[in-house]
Amino acid sequence: MSVDVGALRERDLPVLGTDDSRTYRLGIMGGTFDPIHNGHLVAAEQAFDDLDLDLVVFMPAGRPAFKQDRNVSSGEDRYAMTLLATADNPHFVASRFEVDREGITYTADTLRLLRELYPENVEFYFITGADAITEIVKWRDAKDIARLAHLVAATRPGYDLDRAWDAIDASGLAFDVTYLSVPALAISSSHLRERIKAGQSLRYLTPDPVTGYLHKHGLYGTSTNRYGHTSEVVA
Ligand code: ATP
Ligand code: MG
Repeated sequence: MSVDVGALRERDLPVLGTDDSRTYRLGIMGGTFDPIHNGHLVAAEQAFDDLDLDLVVFMPAGRPAFKQDRNVSSGEDRYAMTLLATADNPHFVASRFEVDREGITYTADTLRLLRELYPENVEFYFITGADAITEIVKWRDAKDIARLAHLVAATRPGYDLDRAWDAIDASGLAFDVTYLSVPALAISSSHLRERIKAGQSLRYLTPDPVTGYLHKHGLYGTSTNRYGHTSEVVA
């Protein structure tokens, strides 16, 4: 199968797989990214290095399956922040692929669609936090996730992997997982949202353009926040 460049471009996906004498490795960093932070970026960069990936594509979820209990920022805002955060790294691209899809975004659907769009010489590496492994084995069509992608699981240094291993054993599915030890793992989007509410700085936790964007657009209640620009002074 050769690459249908037009089909990839139309769906805002990077063109990969053109040389059929070699294999390509595409990292997929999926998430809500509300907002994206340095934990996501460090994990993706380390996966890029350790697994010899060709590219990591960041895909903010359209309507995430598991975050229906709180007000998630719009897909446009989460995509814009993802684009800003990844813009200066040649290993990374941001994609609208999931944001532009109707309905709830399931990872198995995403991987099946990607498998149809990319030729066989492009392998998928789905990057996630190791804590999420215990959930992923229960996700919808987990069998297809195991079939379609390798998993790359970021862990804290010294993190006890027993729970992740037990969950995979119990699932009876043949997940291929590579564990990466990532020091920045304690950072989370929830923690950043809490810091904003408390009027604390996001400096060194997420790229400054992301902080600028979320203040400019009044996300997470920033218009009443003393840090950065307020929505009153920025049109
Ligand atoms: P929230 O706190 O709202 O759940 P989050 O920080 O976990 O947000 P998500 O968008 O939910 O961010 O996560 C996207 C993916 O990134 C998930 O697979 C998650 O496990 C992983 N991830 C989140 N934070 C880190 C981190 N600090 N290091 C490595 N991976 C992370
Ligand atoms: Mg999370």
